[in-house]
Amino acid sequence: MNVVPRRSRFARGGQRIDVSFEFFPPATAEMEGILWESIKRLAPLTPSFVSVTYGAGGSTRERTHNTVKRILAETALTPAAHLTCVAATRAEIDAIVRQYGEAGVRHIVALRGDSIGGPGTRYAPHPGGYANAADLVGGIRKLGDFEISVSAYPEKHPDSPTVEADIDMLKAKVDAGATRAMTQFFFENDLYFRYLDRVRARGIDIPIVPGILPVQNFKATTGFAARCGASVPSWLAERFHGLDADPATRKLIAAAVAAEQVIDLVDRGVTQFHFYTMNRADLVYAICHLLGLRPAVEQAA
Ligand SMILES: Cc1cc2nc3c(=O)[nH]c(=O)nc-3n(C[C@H](O)[C@H](O)[C@H](O)COP(=O)(O)OP(=O)(O)OC[C@H]3O[C@@H](n4cnc5c(N)ncnc54)[C@H](O)[C@@H]3O)c2cc1C
Repeated sequence: MNVVPRRSRFARGGQRIDVSFEFFPPATAEMEGILWESIKRLAPLTPSFVSVTYGAGGSTRERTHNTVKRILAETALTPAAHLTCVAATRAEIDAIVRQYGEAGVRHIVALRGDSIGGPGTRYAPHPGGYANAADLVGGIRKLGDFEISVSAYPEKHPDSPTVEADIDMLKAKVDAGATRAMTQFFFENDLYFRYLDRVRARGIDIPIVPGILPVQNFKATTGFAARCGASVPSWLAERFHGLDADPATRKLIAAAVAAEQVIDLVDRGVTQFHFYTMNRADLVYAICHLLGLRPAVEQAA
């Protein structure tokens, strides 16, 4: 069987739209069921890849690996495994990368990770470990022909003293072999475009793919944003105000907000999107539909 898109997916200007979906490894059997329902619903949209996060401090090492392996075994999707430098020696991380290579995984999302004390506490590299994300990218590069994606921060990473220092780190990651960056989520598109201008001015030419977070839960999003240095504009709070006890309306508002954001990005020339799915398919599916993506159909070879 060949899987082919039923209708081609092109932005208004005629350019192809590509998407990727991020999932986290489930902690319980119930969450595993939700994840797999979501993967099955989103798979026919033929994303370029689906990525699986790596828990803080390496806490999901096995679960990340198992989820990635199941995606390889049971779907036609291309998985990307997230990996961080936290709480492991180089030898331990290299062994994980080799295992992925042997299992047929060709794409790693290479990150420094958060300090073990959590966001806000000072990061200290593991003795004998990779010092930072650029160091990790270089290490993975030596171990095989992997596609390597990294993070980017339109509003600056909280550890970074300035945007320029942040962009220096991005440059180091690209020089070490990264070929794509996915951004932290943001709600004001101008922040992304201002950042993109600075990145391009620094001579970085890899795709800087906007990370889109559909707001499944406004309160949780606010807490998450505060920890990772993303701003939540007052107009967004205003849109969700008064809806705490009204999940159906919240969902419609969330779809409208995300739709407005991605359509503006497309109108301004963006053709690739990375969706933080939070393991839920509905909003992401609807937004992809708006972007012109349609489910693939299977055809006899
Ligand atoms: C697309 C995406 C996917 C992610 N996936 C995961 C995941 O699966 N698991 C997970 O645990 N986390 C994940 N994160 C979060 C990420 O691990 C944290 O933001 C972490 O704090 C930084 O890792 P990084 O690779 O993004 O950092 P880097 O790009 O290496 O660094 C970010 C900034 O911090 C500065 N910096 C780094 N170290 C120091 C230091 N010691 N002192 C001062 N400044 C410093 C750098 O200069 C740079 O400006 C993800 C983030 C994004 C955007």
